Amino acid sequence: MSLPPFKNEALADFSQPENRQALQQALDKVRGQLGRSYPMIIGGDEVMADETFASVNPALPSQVVGYVQQGGAEHARAAIEAADRAFDSWKRVSAGERAEIIVGVAELMRRRRHEFSAWNILEVGKTWGEADGETIETIDFFEYYARQMLRFEQEAATSLETIPSERNRYRYLPLGAGAVITPWNFPTAQMSGLTSAAIVAGNTVAVKPAETSPVIAYHVVNLFYEAGLPRDVLNYVTGPGEVVGEAMVDHPRTRFIGFTGSKAVGTSINQRAAVIQPGQRWIKRTILEMGGKNPVVVDETADLEAAAEGIVAGAFGYQGQKCSAGSRAIIVDQVYDDLVARIVERAKALRVGDPADPAVDMGPVIDPEAVDKITGYIAVGREEGDLALGGGTLEHEGGYFIEPTVFTDVPADARIAQEEVFGPFLTVIRARDFEDALAIANATEYGLTGSLYSHSQERLERAAEELHVGNLYLNRKSTGAEVGIHPFGGFNMSGTDSKAGGPDYLLLFLQGKSISEKVA
Ligand code: NDP
Repeated sequence: MSLPPFKNEALADFSQPENRQALQQALDKVRGQLGRSYPMIIGGDEVMADETFASVNPALPSQVVGYVQQGGAEHARAAIEAADRAFDSWKRVSAGERAEIIVGVAELMRRRRHEFSAWNILEVGKTWGEADGETIETIDFFEYYARQMLRFEQEAATSLETIPSERNRYRYLPLGAGAVITPWNFPTAQMSGLTSAAIVAGNTVAVKPAETSPVIAYHVVNLFYEAGLPRDVLNYVTGPGEVVGEAMVDHPRTRFIGFTGSKAVGTSINQRAAVIQPGQRWIKRTILEMGGKNPVVVDETADLEAAAEGIVAGAFGYQGQKCSAGSRAIIVDQVYDDLVARIVERAKALRVGDPADPAVDMGPVIDPEAVDKITGYIAVGREEGDLALGGGTLEHEGGYFIEPTVFTDVPADARIAQEEVFGPFLTVIRARDFEDALAIANATEYGLTGSLYSHSQERLERAAEELHVGNLYLNRKSTGAEVGIHPFGGFNMSGTDSKAGGPDYLLLFLQGKSISEKVA
């Protein structure tokens, strides 16, 4: 099988009436499907639990997006066992056929692009632009990983040195049945990226989406089936992470765990996965993508307007609920006051409201627990720094809205300068000079993204060498990685150094086998 060269999908231009109309129609269509009940899917069968729970629209919590099953540990185990059984046949399907199915999923999503964005807007509160960005990123993951699998297959065949006395071959084999545990903040892309990478590599999957975004995940799973994936290759289980997720991680037949989420849960999964269970025959592989406290450094040579624009977009895009959010602005003293004034002015102008309205810049945070966590950090911030903007919640139809919030003159070791808040919350730190700023930027346990705004080529190079983050952006914002262009993933406590959307990502789901035959 061969595929045309990979090309990133383009964002929709919503200033064009036909695009606006298409997403509006999709929103109307999806609104007509709200409140339905969804089963789990285990071994191809629809499975109900004794109880269900509701996934609601965070901008309008009285609106139920859908009811899903309150699965338990027994469902998690059944899903892993179904995936394990399916592995025996799926691993024999050629890479070409697997890639064809995944490209088929991409095509189906392309056709229903606005519908997926509409689910995203209604289930997790993304603005139109953010939702569209996520849908196209998902299509890119499918297309990219399909091609990477074909590349690995080809490269393995020709990668060895030769000797006359032997015929030597090298093959990539899949690992087995994996648990894929995903967050709510990129409910389509994270779930699809991990799942499609695992499956195109020949593995089988039991997926558990976050409790606040199970409906989108259900629709994505069905897209795989529609594209021809055998149903038992991808199993879908819903329920609480500490019950369903833990049971999936613990199962002795789980070969790998693909996880994206918080540092606390990621590190606990790492620990659990290291415990060898009775009957277990391998060391479980963990692929963990976790949080960040991402620095944006600005020096005295920078274009301050560009820096202010990038800082506000990086800190408040999707309400700051991105692992890549630029949540720490580290500004050298010489331009500090000027830049802070520009940041505050821009952040003040952000329109907060229901993101189903295309004029809105910032929607709600995900749930009441997020409101509590963020307002808790606002209280901490009042002790640790100066509140320059926001700090309050906003009342609108019971939605979970928080004002864009900026704290200034925060010490570099303060809690709000070190801990991931995951909301519309920017911490601004004053640095003496560039050296000091670089040291502050690195003085965190995380290492996901980072930016430097500077016109000094020498400093840009210094940052390339010394700013220890998985994704470094020079003179641009910290968010918005594109598949195949900016392989994405962090260092230190931000994860296991994997690079989603990068040329070596699929190796995480494969193992190499050497076959050596003596020639007579
Ligand atoms: P969580 O860690 O709370 O949850 C992630 C997933 O883990 C959910 O499906 C959750 O289920 C499940 N889970 C919870 N507890 C356990 C457990 N004990 N064992 C196994 N699974 C469990 O993260 P969020 O969903 O709140 O997502 C936000 C976090 O994700 C942020 O820290 C963000 O930085 C990070 N993130 C990182 C990315 C990266 O690429 N590095 C990308 C996107 C997000 P349930 O919902 O039922 O609790």
